[in-house]
Amino acid sequence: MPESTLAESTLAEKALAIHRRLCAVYGCPIAYFHDLDPVSELVSSLLSHRTRNAESGRAFKALRARFDDWEALIAAPTGEVQDLIAGVTWPELKAPRIQAVLRAVRERAGSLDLAFLREWPVPEARAWLEAIPGIGPKTSAAVLSFSRLRMPALPVDSHHHRVAQRTGLIGPKVDVGPAHAILRSQLPPDWDAQALYDNHEVLMLHGQRCCFHRNPACGACAVLDLCPTGQARSGARAMRDTVALHP
Ligand code: SF4
Repeated sequence: MPESTLAESTLAEKALAIHRRLCAVYGCPIAYFHDLDPVSELVSSLLSHRTRNAESGRAFKALRARFDDWEALIAAPTGEVQDLIAGVTWPELKAPRIQAVLRAVRERAGSLDLAFLREWPVPEARAWLEAIPGIGPKTSAAVLSFSRLRMPALPVDSHHHRVAQRTGLIGPKVDVGPAHAILRSQLPPDWDAQALYDNHEVLMLHGQRCCFHRNPACGACAVLDLCPTGQARSGARAMRDTVALHP
């Protein structure tokens, strides 16, 4: 087997092993946290960029309470939208962006309805969404996976990305955007929407609850034996302990 193919199959085995271990820890299948139509999920996803869930949730509720539908949001003064979402990061950028993205959806789809994407293969549906300025891989995957479309797409957020980097599933210089295709390619091609959703959720939960940005809890980690970062940290700690005991 060529070396690159061997490396890919080894990574695929590792991705599967990590998935199984973390599923045992966090309890798969994981319940979907949203039950939104795809356009509402799009708005929610655009609000959530670099923003805590509680804040983006509050902003989403404020928009829903103020506007009868998303057409009304498009027609509203941008300053009013900005005021309603003031709690999220960069409301001055997100307000005009959300309006522009919704306008583009209406123009390209003929209405504010993305249900037609359900009939499309995932790569084509993602490409259609990502052709709209302001929609990147994470947002397109979130719309397909988290919304009522329930399509087999793999979103990657910053927690998921951090765990994937530390465990060596992706290289240290691979950004969140390109990580989407790499991480998806390591998982079985026939996995359904729930399995891919579970994969995203367990890696995200692991990043939130164990593999912290600062001071990951490697000693309590279920995938320590699969993780070069955790092993290096444990080795360094053991070395420090030895030096302390035998100066
Ligand atoms: S061993 Fe440490 S660095 Fe690796 S995934 Fe677990 S917590 Fe993160």
